[in-house]
Amino acid sequence: MDRKEFFIDGAWTASLDGGAHQVVEAATGRPLAEAAMAGAADIDAAVGAARRALAGPWGELGNPGRADLLDRFADELQARGRETAETVTRENGMPIKMSKSVNGYGPAFMVRYYAKLIRGLGLEESRPSAAGGRTIVRREPVGVVAAITPWNYPQPLAAMKLAPALAAGCTVVLKPSPETALDAYAFADAAVAAGLPAGVVNVVPGGREAGAHLVRHPGVDKVAFTGSTGAGRAIGEISGRLLRPVTLELGGKSVSLVADDADLDLFTARLLDVSLPNNGQTCHAGTRILAPRTRYGEVVDAITETVRGYRVGNPLDRGTQIGPMVSRAQRRRVLDYIGIGKASDARLTVGGGVPAGLAEGWFVEPTVFADVDNGDVIAREEIFGPVLAVVPYGTIDEAIAIANDSDYGLGGSVWTADEERGIEIGRRIQTGSFGVNHYELDLDAPFGGVKGSGLGRELGPEGLGPYLVHKSIYLAASAAS
Ligand code: NAD
Repeated sequence: MDRKEFFIDGAWTASLDGGAHQVVEAATGRPLAEAAMAGAADIDAAVGAARRALAGPWGELGNPGRADLLDRFADELQARGRETAETVTRENGMPIKMSKSVNGYGPAFMVRYYAKLIRGLGLEESRPSAAGGRTIVRREPVGVVAAITPWNYPQPLAAMKLAPALAAGCTVVLKPSPETALDAYAFADAAVAAGLPAGVVNVVPGGREAGAHLVRHPGVDKVAFTGSTGAGRAIGEISGRLLRPVTLELGGKSVSLVADDADLDLFTARLLDVSLPNNGQTCHAGTRILAPRTRYGEVVDAITETVRGYRVGNPLDRGTQIGPMVSRAQRRRVLDYIGIGKASDARLTVGGGVPAGLAEGWFVEPTVFADVDNGDVIAREEIFGPVLAVVPYGTIDEAIAIANDSDYGLGGSVWTADEERGIEIGRRIQTGSFGVNHYELDLDAPFGGVKGSGLGRELGPEGLGPYLVHKSIYLAASAAS
């Protein structure tokens, strides 16, 4: 399973100046495989290859030709889906059932989606101009894209960048996280099998330094980043100075707002998917639960009993609902936040430590704190683990004010018997996406954040725009006639 070479310029390439990283299995804490880690010279080589590929056969393909190649790329990704899903589960602890869908099938779906979108899109359109002539509006690829991804949903988050970038005619340098370096090679293997021209997709796993070098690189035309808000701010500053377009998908602290008329059975049935997906290691997880004072005890009891019943264990078992954290460091971070919660006035109702019998690997008990004040650290900061904070509210206006009193704005949901009321509440929440009685990303609709959750949108037709630049060619009235 070792991956000791990068994929650069269509070939397997030994590192010029990087090192190696031992990828560890999250459920056991034992070594899984070794992966090469890029240094600056490796990043330079990858960017150089991507620049050359822009001017090569890839740049000469029209939209239909590119769409055909992308469909083949999607088929090859899908053919590797089962294996890819298992690799991710070993790397980051995502329960296999979820991994099969998001890591196994998600990338192929997204590549096909954007292939279909460009089939129907001309490269140029001619419009009558306001001055009586004509203007040709061209859609050109923005150029070389630096795609930098985190470890929590490594496959779909890479595909959310690769698919529209390639559809637009760009070339890509993908820099995955060290923790999930192995699964990223599915994109390289599929690119080879599908016959993508050399240099169109380059895969160079690496750490923070390699990412920073890529962001600053003069050969990069656009940065597409998903990760923490801290890293996103640093990348945004550099991109601003360089006037380099950037998309930033960052952290979150979303709400699950339980209205006074909520169906609690429905809410608790969907709690895992909405508030603790991927063991809580999810940017849009609704980990801040707002519960009405009129039903507070009932809501807290229902959440506590539901969470107590979750099956925690090996994420490769189909019945597992909560797997381990990605790494020892991530478990430490989550346990530290649980310690902060215990030291506050909040009330621990279930969990709060390492589960019995699971000392190996990076497991944390699913944990619930009740009586949390929205000003508490555990209600304000992204924990990125299986920890829920239940905050009481009085009126619905107060609940909306609490929801909006956050540094973040990424996801969120409301639970109510009245869908119209739910939509109205959704309109008033400062966020990039919101669900009524569920929360599930729609790959056909834009996704992204406001405030500290980021800039720009991915997915849907809107997700193609950031990879295109428009050029207008003005024709004089006399030439137009
Ligand atoms: P991270 O910011 O530490 O790292 C993300 C990626 O960026 C990695 O590849 C890392 O090597 C690289 N990186 C880190 N610092 C960098 C820098 N200064 N310059 C360039 N590259 C840099 O995040 P993580 O711990 O891997 O992932 C968890 C975070 O990602 C959470 O905050 C989570 O909310 C966020 N996330 C957001 C979304 C979204 O769509 N909004 C989705 C998933 C995860």
